Amino acid sequence: MLENRGVVDCLSPNERSQIMARVRSKNMRPELLVRRVVFALGYRYRLHAKELPGHPDLAFRRRKKVIFVHGCFWHRHENCPLARMPKSRTDFWEAKLEGNRQRDEKNTKMLRRAGWKVLTIWECELKDTTRLERRIGRFLDA
Ligand SMILES: [Zn+2]
Repeated sequence: MLENRGVVDCLSPNERSQIMARVRSKNMRPELLVRRVVFALGYRYRLHAKELPGHPDLAFRRRKKVIFVHGCFWHRHENCPLARMPKSRTDFWEAKLEGNRQRDEKNTKMLRRAGWKVLTIWECELKDTTRLERRIGRFLDA
């Protein structure tokens, strides 16, 4: 999310408070929750592998698998209520968020081409922890 810091700094007070309200409404940052689940399942991982496209949040080198944890708003989760486009400065947001989405797509392609298996977990999928555990377990075991 570091790449978005510049954007957060130039938000109008209203935009900023809307986004911060979204952030505050969660008890835990999405990445931390996923890490906790992965750790509890007994898998060990590396964080933000710098040499891999997109710096995946979790990397499982031996299994050649990576997990991205994406915020629905910043990464533009399709048809997701959390990814609603702000009503003001729509052009700015459209360009910014579409750029993020395209970058994600490119990184995923590059990883897959290099033989990595990629799992993307969206912020809105974190509420059901049991389902999340099953999904991560299936992905890592396969
Ligand atoms: Zn979502």
